[in-house]
Amino acid sequence: MLQLMWFRNDLRVRDNSALSAGMLAGPTLALFVVTPEQWRRHDEAACKIDFWMRNLATLKAELQILGVPLLIRHAQTWDDIPAVLADTCRTHGVQHVHANEEYGINEGRRDTAVDAQLTASGTGFTRHVDQVLFAPGSILNRSGGYFQVFSQFRKACWQRLHSSLLPCTGKPRPQQPLAVRSDDVPMHIPGFCAPAPDLGSLWPAGEQSALLRLQRFTDEAMPDYHRQRDMPAYPGTSSLSPYLASGVLSIRQCLHAALQVNQGEFDSGNEGVVTWINELLWREFYKHILAGFPRVSRHRAFRSETEAIPWRDAPEDLQAWQQGNTGFPLIDAAMRQLLATGWMHNRLRMVTAMFLTKNLLIDWREGERYFMRHLIDGDLAANNGGWQWSASTGTDAVPWFRIFNPVTQSRRFDPEGRFIRQWIPELAHLDNHDIHLPPQGTLFSSANYPAPMVDLKSSRQRALEAFRGNGRHAS
Ligand code: FAD
Repeated sequence: MLQLMWFRNDLRVRDNSALSAGMLAGPTLALFVVTPEQWRRHDEAACKIDFWMRNLATLKAELQILGVPLLIRHAQTWDDIPAVLADTCRTHGVQHVHANEEYGINEGRRDTAVDAQLTASGTGFTRHVDQVLFAPGSILNRSGGYFQVFSQFRKACWQRLHSSLLPCTGKPRPQQPLAVRSDDVPMHIPGFCAPAPDLGSLWPAGEQSALLRLQRFTDEAMPDYHRQRDMPAYPGTSSLSPYLASGVLSIRQCLHAALQVNQGEFDSGNEGVVTWINELLWREFYKHILAGFPRVSRHRAFRSETEAIPWRDAPEDLQAWQQGNTGFPLIDAAMRQLLATGWMHNRLRMVTAMFLTKNLLIDWREGERYFMRHLIDGDLAANNGGWQWSASTGTDAVPWFRIFNPVTQSRRFDPEGRFIRQWIPELAHLDNHDIHLPPQGTLFSSANYPAPMVDLKSSRQRALEAFRGNGRHAS
């Protein structure tokens, strides 16, 4: 019985639930469908699509070793996918299709339509749990609802992990090669050309690169993660997010790597490891929120009362933020890091998001979209969760009256200005005091760096009034 593995956001052969199940059931073909118009509608970043294509090429080589040919098909949007799948199955005599579950609304609709079409033509379709540790809907509170508070969700995850820790399935055993030719992987998708040519060395493709990065992080930085993770000038975090977001690495591989250095403990033992696992559970939490509260997929505020906040329509301010020209060095350095590398440090994602939504009082959806269009690790659940957290519109979000001061954050998390100097060389001559808020004057204007675009005190006050007027109360 010929099986078809339909790859989407799971570009790896190791510990891949659907691929393992398919190859266990019978000889397997693999498929990837290129859908540029859909990607555009989802605001996928050019660097992310470029990363996908580079990973697809290494996946093809890995599949070849397993004797699995990779077919590439093209469609504009997901509306065309049921027909593409049905046609592929008919052409090759496929009897069963396997894919790993995805949790956005459009993803769900696409898969329901595929299921209906395949069922009508007598082909089976199984979706496997793979992106997450626990299937959304399987970790619920006492009233049978989704958790909305992270610490409670985490506790429930810990309990579940104590009783059942899923193993990694490793690489499937090679099959007898099939008499089907693999297709060429398109290295450039029109409209999605990588903005910087050196992203390939910053974010090398392939499972081997991801595993090496995980190993290095585990050996060198994980035990100190709790001390280093907020300092953007230091390589204190794993920078594995692009690999996790594209499924080049699995969440189970990450968890097992962490458990190995912590004698199997996930809620006690080494503080760095426990803190890192905590972040993996934030990822899990937001995926469950996405599945449990579909309005989040439609870019609606999790807290519906915050839909009434009078966001400012200020295109010039938005553009200054986007281009890293706010006059606040930490914010600008972070935005320049995003544009140059497709990635931004977590502390800076929070600081820049809070600056946009509070000090500039611009709708979080503008920031969410801009991040998505530039992030190599763009992930609907985490990006939406992070933006709604920062804007105080989300589940378990920061209280609306707690507004980060970007200068204080800069002094605290980049005390020597190392990160700022890296991304804003025109400020490199300033001393460790001035670099966080350059003095205005002749010396300074010659450096061609803008003056602060807002007064922090009054813009903070404006945000407090907007949120207070919206009927939200300090609690
Ligand atoms: P590490 O610190 O090494 O953490 C390990 C992994 O845990 C990460 O790779 C990621 O998969 C997960 N993780 C860590 N922190 C979070 C978090 N707060 N929420 C969800 N998952 C987390 N993460 C994305 O993967 N894609 C996004 O599009 C994204 N957008 C964000 C937008 C905003 C406004 C904010 C505040 C956060 C966003 N995050 C996003 C979460 C976080 O910033 C990144 O996951 C992290 O910076 C990636 O770096 P790392 O791999 O070195 O993380």
